[in-house]
Amino acid sequence: MIKVVKFGGSSLASAEQFKKVARIIRKDQDRRYVIPSAPGKRTPDDTKVTDMLYSCYALANMDEDCDEEFEEQLNRIRERYEEIIKGLDLDLDLTDEFRTIRENFIRRIGRDYAASRGEYLNGLIMSAYLGYDFIDAAEVIQFDEAGNFLADETNQILSGRIREVERAVIPGFYGAMPDGTIKTFSRGGSDITGSIVARAIHADMYENWTDVSGFLIADPRIIKNPKAIDVITYRELRELSYMGATVLHEDAIFPVRREGIPINIRNTNIPEDKGTLIVEGTCRKPRFVITGIAGKKDFASITIEKAMMNSEVGFCKKVLEVFEDNQISIEHMPSGIDTMTIFVHQDEFEEKEQKVIAGIHRAVEPDFLELESDLALIAVVGRGMRATRGTSGRIFSALAHANVNVKMIDQGSSELNIIIGVRNHDFNDAIRAIYDIFVNTMI
Ligand code: ASP
Repeated sequence: MIKVVKFGGSSLASAEQFKKVARIIRKDQDRRYVIPSAPGKRTPDDTKVTDMLYSCYALANMDEDCDEEFEEQLNRIRERYEEIIKGLDLDLDLTDEFRTIRENFIRRIGRDYAASRGEYLNGLIMSAYLGYDFIDAAEVIQFDEAGNFLADETNQILSGRIREVERAVIPGFYGAMPDGTIKTFSRGGSDITGSIVARAIHADMYENWTDVSGFLIADPRIIKNPKAIDVITYRELRELSYMGATVLHEDAIFPVRREGIPINIRNTNIPEDKGTLIVEGTCRKPRFVITGIAGKKDFASITIEKAMMNSEVGFCKKVLEVFEDNQISIEHMPSGIDTMTIFVHQDEFEEKEQKVIAGIHRAVEPDFLELESDLALIAVVGRGMRATRGTSGRIFSALAHANVNVKMIDQGSSELNIIIGVRNHDFNDAIRAIYDIFVNTMI
């Protein structure tokens, strides 16, 4: 078995955390390829090293007033690493590394280079501590001149290189363009590196270690101690993307999914928890009819009514073009016989509102047009829904009992999700009512 293990910033924020991580890795011989993030926050008001690097780079070579501040900030970053090295009793000297980093910052080599040093240095420490080989991500993760990630080229180079070594540490978050310029993924991108490495080595499992024991059925700020999700499919996770984004980078799914490699979200601080397993498909019966509930507030809706709209060829296209022309993305689009409603993000829509209305009038001459704001969308997702009767009925009655007025309900044709529109101020009550009926009453 081969496991690729990625550790997030909070798992590597201090020497203590490094020790936990090493214990986890050594406990399972299959954990052979390690992807570290940069040191994250040690306490809630601490600063991530990546953010320190960005701000340090902003001060580099600006003007004389900034020089002192620049040196201080660089020292603070160095101290964070020195503290880890000392706490681990390692014989590792970063003097040369910091000399190079300082020179490159002053040459203003690039913001991405600056940010990437967080993972690079953590990778050096991790490889020294574990006794694993170090592979610099700049040599194996490839981007083109425009900064687009090159999946196939990377896969070829990386799989060749990685097969030569039994065990290795590969820093997350960055790679290089053809001329050697360092390029990073978007924030949280070490998750993507882990997934790319898992694909290249045909891993049996991609373990993503963080500071939560996987996904929860609902947001813990709304539901007290919600149950964890033990198994979720990639499709369900996508439907719950409102909720997933904070735990796992969205772009981390694609490379492993195409190879059928499962992802296991685990908690470095409670390693005995099994976490959440993300899989392509499963025969395992879900514990509850629903896998998860997630939602978001602050949508606006535009309802367009026109008699016989369903027989007018190209009607939807014309309406959608108005949104496209105004560069507004559409979140959801339920429709009736003579109506169609379009949900958009309120903040994006507000400033272009009058242009959109005028555009729709011109494009399709509606009989009636209605706008509503302060709406929330809630996605109730579960592969178990297909085999269960009455799911939407139960949702309706739970919401009615909770005095929540349902503005809209829409079941996806996959029978994997039901989307409900409510007023912003009913959002929490609605989630609580749905959680209660599907989870609390089933225990
Ligand atoms: N260190 C980077 C960030 O803070 C990347 C990562 O942690 O995945 O976004």
